[in-house]
Amino acid sequence: MRRKLIAGNWKMNGSMAALAELDAIGATAATTPGVDVAVAVPATLIASAAQRVRGLSVGAQDVHQGECGAHTGCVSAAMVREAGARFSIVGHSERRADQGESDAHVRGKAEAAHAAGLQVILCVGETLDDRDAGRAEAVVTAQLAASLPTHAEGEWLAVAYEPIWAIGTGRTPTVADVAAIHGALRAKLRDLLGEEADAIRLLYGGSVNDANAAELLGADDVDGALVGGASLTATKFVPIIEAAARIAS
Ligand code: PEP
Repeated sequence: MRRKLIAGNWKMNGSMAALAELDAIGATAATTPGVDVAVAVPATLIASAAQRVRGLSVGAQDVHQGECGAHTGCVSAAMVREAGARFSIVGHSERRADQGESDAHVRGKAEAAHAAGLQVILCVGETLDDRDAGRAEAVVTAQLAASLPTHAEGEWLAVAYEPIWAIGTGRTPTVADVAAIHGALRAKLRDLLGEEADAIRLLYGGSVNDANAAELLGADDVDGALVGGASLTATKFVPIIEAAARIAS
């Protein structure tokens, strides 16, 4: 049985003062034992958040695929681990688009994160053009196959399906569409990994909020959510955790 995972992504938002929101989110998380809660904060806040916050995992939004060296502005998986991160997102569509990250980069990042002792949330998702052309399933399963780290296991890897057109837009796919893509991702994982595929959590991400969380989290093969905007405050994030807890119980 896969535990629900509700993961937040603060992106380039947040400050030391905003860590008070994590205190409140962690307090709820500590009293919802059926749900794992995690928040990926900006790199500058990892150490402070990890020292201060209880009840949830603090993580990074990206790591470099290398161990160290001449990569100005980047941080390694070992660096964020030392700062207190317990996981990292890799392959978010904003990084694939803004930083030109390929599937090979993403795979390298996932492997580097795992080697440093981090859990990994690997993102895949289609564009609106892909969706309208009827190739969403083909695109995301190809992305998954090309960016899946070697020796992938559910103990440390989750996959987030994030349709690019749903991120930050207020638009979401239908529950049936989400279930169809998650089913295709599960089938691809079974092709690639055999039985281990059933241990890997599949998260949905893209405009999840308190109003749609219960429906999306209740869909077949949806083991949690990756949440951007609605993870920035306890007022918005806690109801999503509570929706997951109701489904898990
Ligand atoms: C995200 O960026 O991972 C995300 C899902 O954002 P939002 O929830 O704001 O759509």
